[in-house]
Amino acid sequence: MQNFLRVASRTLVGVIAFIAVIALGLAMNTGTAATAQDSLPATITPRPSPTGNGGTATWTVKSMTFKSEYPNGGTFTIEANSSAGDINSATVFIQHQPFKRTRVIAKYDAASGTWIAKWLGQATPQWVAVNYYWSLSDAQKNVYQTDTVGDIYADNTREWKVRDSEDITVYWQATLTDDYADEIIAAMAAQREFYRSHWGTLLKYKPRAVIYDDYAAMAEWDQGAGLRNPGTGGVGSTIVVGRAYDAFGTFIGVARKGRSSPHWMAYDIVLHEIGHLYQAQNGGIITSGQIWFYEGNAEYFNKDEASLEESLNNAKNLAASGNLPPLLAIGRNGLIAYEVGYAFWKWLEVRFGDDIHLSIVQLCAKGINWQKALEQATGMSFLALETEFRAWLGAPNAVPPTTLPEPTLAFAFPSPTFAPTKTPKP
Ligand SMILES: [Zn+2]
Repeated sequence: MQNFLRVASRTLVGVIAFIAVIALGLAMNTGTAATAQDSLPATITPRPSPTGNGGTATWTVKSMTFKSEYPNGGTFTIEANSSAGDINSATVFIQHQPFKRTRVIAKYDAASGTWIAKWLGQATPQWVAVNYYWSLSDAQKNVYQTDTVGDIYADNTREWKVRDSEDITVYWQATLTDDYADEIIAAMAAQREFYRSHWGTLLKYKPRAVIYDDYAAMAEWDQGAGLRNPGTGGVGSTIVVGRAYDAFGTFIGVARKGRSSPHWMAYDIVLHEIGHLYQAQNGGIITSGQIWFYEGNAEYFNKDEASLEESLNNAKNLAASGNLPPLLAIGRNGLIAYEVGYAFWKWLEVRFGDDIHLSIVQLCAKGINWQKALEQATGMSFLALETEFRAWLGAPNAVPPTTLPEPTLAFAFPSPTFAPTKTPKP
């Protein structure tokens, strides 16, 4: 799982942002309370049945159920039989987004004639999609795979609201203003064509946003959220305001009792984090291992103009001071990575036109190394690019040192990463 954290400003107010993914088109009423009792109609891309599904036997499925027991996972059951003999194994496959799955092996309960699989739901946020199918085998080695069923990891322990749009499904704690949903849905709609034109395609699933009032509900599944720092959800001066989880197709945001404003959450944090989901879908950006490269790229999808202007100004001031480090030496310097990284992607647009982003990421998607993709798309060497970029920022020492090796990452992906953002705006 890839987590993307955001850390804040010169005062090092930190921001953490997760990434998650969702594949359901949920038809929901606007702002209705969401409970496990709601049967939300789900539209799922059906999995093609495997060739020869079921073998030579005739299979009958009497029932398939999922019961959310958030925050402790949930229970799957299936009651089925095969004409060829007893079923001797049953495994449930679980997907929170279309491209990743986990599985749980079931046990047979003779009393009820049912196979039961207990999913632990470890470190899983509430309201992620739970799309599942079963694989069954019988005594004659016939194997049968059921159709996929769409369900949801409902949190019935507190009151939530839910609203669905073309771009995103938003869940938010009922103690929060509906403005969070309004702003997130508006921001995603406003940015839809920018995402599409810059990645060549929209996300292949509909992402979700889960917005918490404070850290209590988050700490139930993210042990660190409450334990690290009950007041901020972060470590030391880092404040958690949002994360996106590729494996869940979901963005997690913390309103912090209103200190993360709906507009800022939507246009700065959510749009940045959804940018990471596009990176994960595309490939090649995050795997660059260059924080300035992928965080700057995510920030390129931020639509909070004041925040972007501040980033650009900070990068220019740093350059003018003569202290702008070479790009490859930025390493884990979080704040500089965000601001200089964003400035770099913005400069590419100014220098080569609005299509340059798509050219680069399409090369990355083919497996071409990020640095070579930059060079191929622009027709310039990386050194020439960086020199011109530094001059554009106003660096008196435009030519960067060229002998620095790429910094060794502190850890390999997928791992949490930290990056800076602005001081949360009131
Ligand atoms: Zn980020």
